[in-house]
Amino acid sequence: MMLADGGVTVIWIGGALLVGLAGAIVIVPWMIVRGLLRVLRALLGCGRRRQPLEPLHAAAPPRVCGQPRCGYLNRDAARYCARCGTSLKPLEVVNRHG
Ligand SMILES: [Zn+2]
Repeated sequence: MMLADGGVTVIWIGGALLVGLAGAIVIVPWMIVRGLLRVLRALLGCGRRRQPLEPLHAAAPPRVCGQPRCGYLNRDAARYCARCGTSLKPLEVVNRHG
């Protein structure tokens, strides 16, 4: 009687181990395939995008050079024009008026 109970217990434990092993055998390749698909999608640049294309906050106004003969479009953090070297307006003045 005790031997039969021990056998049943061993069968239960072995069955649980087999189920867990089978789950691992299914899940691990699935995770590898998902990772490879994500890498491929990132490399090819196609597929669905999770982030919106537009930035969430409004972009800073372009830093257009004030010189009438220049008008160069500088990057946002620029303090001087990249083309003619004219000092650009401070950011607060640009934001308030334009
Ligand atoms: Zn300029």
